[in-house]
Amino acid sequence: AKTRGRNAYRFFEPGMDVTIRTRRALETDLQAALTRQEFELNFQPIMNIASGEIVGAEALVRWHSPVRGLVLPQDFIPVAEETGLIIPLGEWSLVKACAVAASWRSGVYIAVNVSAVQMRERNFISTVTSALASSGVPANRLELEITETVLMDESDVVLTTLRQLRQLGIRIALDDFGVGYSSLSYLRRIPVDKIKIDRSFISDIDNHDTAAIVSTIIRLGTQLGITVTAEGVETTGQLEFLRREGCVQAQGYLIGVPSKAEAVCNIVREAHIL
Ligand code: C2E
Ligand code: CA
Ligand code: CA
Ligand code: CA
Repeated sequence: AKTRGRNAYRFFEPGMDVTIRTRRALETDLQAALTRQEFELNFQPIMNIASGEIVGAEALVRWHSPVRGLVLPQDFIPVAEETGLIIPLGEWSLVKACAVAASWRSGVYIAVNVSAVQMRERNFISTVTSALASSGVPANRLELEITETVLMDESDVVLTTLRQLRQLGIRIALDDFGVGYSSLSYLRRIPVDKIKIDRSFISDIDNHDTAAIVSTIIRLGTQLGITVTAEGVETTGQLEFLRREGCVQAQGYLIGVPSKAEAVCNIVREAHIL
């Protein structure tokens, strides 16, 4: 058994090597992707449940690699974060999203995902303000989505940055709410304007316990004066439940899939869709 174990170990080594080489190649391709303009932003509409109106859109990055095809964020954002490439990529996203928001000429706001790595950058605020200034989009049409990894860093730097952003009129949304370790304690410490209930809850809403959790989060948001958005709404049944419970906003395939800026623009113009 011992010998077999050693052989198995030796057998594994080249495999590990391949993993490292694959990873290096991904890093190299990612670096080049920015200068080659292989990134694109898609936009997913966000609806006010009570009025049925599209009130906002979330920018979601896509990587069209000539060699890899379409690469989804889950497969490259972590690498971009580890290599620091998320800084220029995040700046590009902000500038691009604001430019698109300016072209829409409606009050629809734009939501941009911000990584913890970006938030810790010294000049993050000036990156945001210059994206707004160059596009002419007012601060109240920009929402920044953060996850609790941003807040795990206890340093005052992040808290100060969040406060300054809010003072400028930019809204802060807490993304993937409910799946982290201490979402509730963060609500006590940091001022947020919105919580986005993670889509894992919405997809499981037929379960009695999950439904109870979702309606409790909605009531919690209402009492704290925080807008609650449900993510990943795919069925009318889910939307009806959320409407009954008084959830303010919904986002998901039922309302609209992430699409190119021009396509979302048409949805926005139609206004009442559900
Ligand atoms: P997220 O912020 O939670 O974004 C929502 C994800 O759920 C998106 O996946 C979206 O396509 C998907 N989604 C929306 N509605 C539905 C639905 O009804 N059903 C299902 N099954 N899925 C739905 P996507 O675009 O692949 O993005 C994945 C994650 O990548 C995002 O999660 C976000 O954390 C990150 N991400 C995307 N774009 C950026 C970016 O520009 N910067 C940073 N830092 N992160 C980004
Ligand atoms: Ca998000
Ligand atoms: Ca989310
Ligand atoms: Ca997510």
